[in-house]
Amino acid sequence: MAVYEYSCACCGRFEERLAMGSAPGTRDCPTCGGDAKRVYSPPGLAFTPASVVASREREERSREAPEVVVRGGAPAPRASQPPHPALAHLPRP
Ligand SMILES: [Zn+2]
Repeated sequence: MAVYEYSCACCGRFEERLAMGSAPGTRDCPTCGGDAKRVYSPPGLAFTPASVVASREREERSREAPEVVVRGGAPAPRASQPPHPALAHLPRP
């Protein structure tokens, strides 16, 4: 079974579960009974987690307008962290 999406001019979109490859181009609207045309949409995007959708949108935006990186490289070591005791035995430059 696959989920197919249809759009009624009066009632909007609705989904139908049908055998794969058996979806007609038009279907009766379950609300008003009028003709509803099949709508083609990317599969699985309706069930994609919001974090994945946000990541994809960020990637799309970065193609035309990449985000500006102010500071790069590894983060600076924290000053409050004491040096490792083994480092005290290393020769100094
Ligand atoms: Zn309708």
